Parts: sequence; C-alpha cells; structure tokens
Amino acid sequence: MRFDTIIIGGGLSSLVCGIRLQDRGQKCLIVSAGQNALHFSSGAFGLLGRLPDGTVVGEPLKAIGMLPEDHPYSKIGTEKIEAYCKEVPGFFSSCGIDLHPAFTECDVPRNGFRITPLGTLKPAWLAMKDTELLKSREESLGKKALIVNFAGFLDFNTRFIAEGLEKRGTECRIEILKIKDVENLRKNPSEMRSVGIARVMSREENWKSVGNQVREMISGEDLVILPEVFGLDDAVITDWLKEMIPAKTLFIGTMPPSVPGIRAQMRLKKTFEKKGGMFLAGDTALGPVFEGSHVASVRTANLGLLPLEADNFVLASGNLFGKGIDVVPGTVREPVFGLDTVCPAEMNDWCDKDFYAKQNYAGFGVATDKMMRALKGGEVISNLFVAGSEVAGCNSLQEGSGAGVAIMTALYVADNILSD
Ligand SMILES: Cc1cc2nc3c(=O)[nH]c(=O)nc-3n(C[C@H](O)[C@H](O)[C@H](O)COP(=O)(O)OP(=O)(O)OC[C@H]3O[C@@H](n4cnc5c(N)ncnc54)[C@H](O)[C@@H]3O)c2cc1C
Repeated sequence: MRFDTIIIGGGLSSLVCGIRLQDRGQKCLIVSAGQNALHFSSGAFGLLGRLPDGTVVGEPLKAIGMLPEDHPYSKIGTEKIEAYCKEVPGFFSSCGIDLHPAFTECDVPRNGFRITPLGTLKPAWLAMKDTELLKSREESLGKKALIVNFAGFLDFNTRFIAEGLEKRGTECRIEILKIKDVENLRKNPSEMRSVGIARVMSREENWKSVGNQVREMISGEDLVILPEVFGLDDAVITDWLKEMIPAKTLFIGTMPPSVPGIRAQMRLKKTFEKKGGMFLAGDTALGPVFEGSHVASVRTANLGLLPLEADNFVLASGNLFGKGIDVVPGTVREPVFGLDTVCPAEMNDWCDKDFYAKQNYAGFGVATDKMMRALKGGEVISNLFVAGSEVAGCNSLQEGSGAGVAIMTALYVADNILSD
C-alpha cells in the first residue's frame, strides 16, 4: 500500500498534521497504537506558561525569543507561530470543536487561567467551549457557588474545588445528585469514572433530571459548578443545562480520563476520516526499511509483512507517556526507527526526587534539524519528520506548552512536507 504521507501515532499532533495534509490534497495514513495524551488532558491548551528557568509568561509570543535555539518554537520562529495561532480557532471549529470565546478573538495570544480539578488556577491559552477560562487570576467567578457532584464519584473532588474558590472570595455549598443510572455504575468501581458517567448522561432523561435537580437545589447562588461529564459527543446537553439552570453554570474537568479531551480526539479523527484519511486504530508501526538516508516503508504489527510505503513519514508517537520514547537501563531510545534521542548524559539528572520539581525525563525527545526532520547517527533522514511531544528541546510539563507544541509542530511539519 502506498500513501503520500504515513503518520505514526494517533494523538493531537498526528491528527492536526493529518487533517492539514488531507486538506491540501494528500493521501495519508495514521497508524495509532492506543490511548494518547488527549484522553487525559484538561480541555485547555497551553502555549507557553513558563520559561525553562521558571519565569511566568503572560504573552507567549513575546517570550519565544527567550527560548533556547533547540526549542521547537525557536526552530519554527515567532512569525510562523503567530500566524498558526491565528489559524487555530478556525481549524478546531472546522473540526466541530468550538473553543471558549475568552481568547479566540485576540490578535496576540495571551495566557488566561483554567480551573484545575484541585481548585487551583493554571495558565492556558485556549480551552474547549465548556472548559472555563479566566482572563486573570483576580477575575471573580461569583459570590456564592453551588458545587454539585454525583453520589460516589471520586474523580471530582468538591472539597478541593470549594477550598480553591473560597480562597478567591466565593462562598461555596456542596450538594449531591442522585441519578438511578449513575447509581447502577457504582456496582462496578471501574465503571464509576468520567467516561462511564458521560455515557449514561447521553440519555436525555438523565441530563434533564440533572437540570431539574440542580434547579431545585439552588438557593441564592449565582454560580453552579458541575463535573465535565455530559455526553461524549453531544454539545446540546451542556447548552441545555446552561439555559435551564438559573445561575452561571461552569463545567470543571475531572481527574482523568478526560471527557472533553476524548470528545476532541473523536472529532479530530472523524474530520481526518471525512477528508479521506485512513486511520489504523490499535496497530503499532515497526520494521522500517531505509534506503540510504531515506525511509522507504514501515510495517505494522497487525498487517505483518505488508510494506506500507510513502513519500514522507511523520513520527508523532509521543514522549515517554505515549511510548514514542522508552528507557532501557542507561539509555533513552526511540523504538521504531532507532533515532537519536536527547536526554541529560548523567542518569542521576533524569529525575528529581522532589515530585513537584522540574522533571527532566518529561523533556526527553528525538533530535531534529530546523525543519523537524529526524536525525539518526547524526545524519538527517530526509523524509522522516517528527511532531508533537516527541520533538526534543522542550519540557512541556514544566513550561505548560503541551498542546501548543503538539499543534505548532504538527502544522509546521505539514507545511514543510507540502512545500517540498
Ligand atoms: C496526562 C497528560 C495530560 C496532559 N494535559 C494537558 C493539558 O491539559 N493541556 C495541555 O496543553 N497539554 C496537556 N498535556 C500535554 C499535551 O496534551 C500533549 O503533549 C500532547 O497532546 C501530545 O500529543 P502527541 O500527539 O505529541 O502525543 P500523544 O498524545 O502521546 O500520542 C502519541 C500516540 O502515539 C501512539 N504510538 C506510540 N508508539 C506508536 C507506534 N510504534 N505505532 C503507532 N502508534 C504509536 C500512542 O499510542 C499514542 O496514541 C498533557 C499530557 C499528558 C501526558
């Protein structure tokens, strides 16, 4: 089988890259082994929240010039990133993913703040429509909040959220919802997760019952907070709840798995397939054939000896989390192509015993040239590009740049392939 481009990995970067390439007339294949980081994400996109030295960033574009030259943003350049930032809201909206209006109209990207499941604030650039984004730390959410949870749902910690809000001057009251179908989920603890509840909440009688119960519970509150678990693929539900509840209604992301993240991944995948792309789910790329400094084909675990050929390949298989990079004693390796990786020389420097300190392992990645083509033995592989969290040079966990790096590198790689 032959394609214009074969992309390895089914996460945010591979889907954005694949949609861009299909849009411009290419025939693409995505090979995706399994779960990706979107399934765990908050529903908000970080572009750049901190510099590597810890300095807090308010306007990401102004800070890009201060990043080291091997950072993916430095390779792409401020001008291109600015142009991509302007495209992103339209891109996601064309995939059926509406973004929170707080920053979509801004000419220059600015950091706002999302509310974490622990009730704290974290810098974010954009967020999905129902994920609340504050313009500043000082912005008040309301005077009195009613925080509502499902009985027995432990991944939405109402006490933490209340503590976080009370510190910011909002008086809080907590109430519990009882819905028969959710009660049934409690019989099996593995079902009592956000995705299980979202499935149950897709039934009209259930979300209508939530709306009616919350209406009854309100007693002078100007703010209602609910867990973000309403329907895996249906925006109607949250719109209806917001209209029905007589107070400002916010949905706060739960502990993983993430319903907004899964919803976004499903819509991106659907868009890619609608544009003619082929998505091989649950399969793993392996066994590349090189012709000099060029990749001729790969195989997959499920298709056996059948070679998958393409003009270009994109490796978007994630960092340690996605298993695009793995660690064998003393070495960090990229398992599919055996590419050059970047990590501190001393193993002692790979992680810090202080859990909250900067963790260097979160920045392990594949070495690339300026066009984000992979290096192997110091040589550029001319038709193998790297996108997303697998690109070396940034620690997106520490920088708060995860989704930003995934999106910007994906668009950059697609444009480099198209201009070739
Ligand atoms: C738990 C978690 C939560 C996060 N939350 C946020 C957030 O709230 N906001 C934010 O801005 N950023 C967040 N990030 C960071 C950001 O979301 C990720 O950096 C970004 O989504 C990474 O996308 P990716 O496509 O590069 O890789 P991934 O999402 O990791 O996807 C890699 C994919 O490649 C597949 N794969 C691996 N090897 C192979 C192979 N050989 N063959 C085929 N497929 C393969 C994997 O199965 C996986 O599907 C989070 C990251 C993590 C880990």
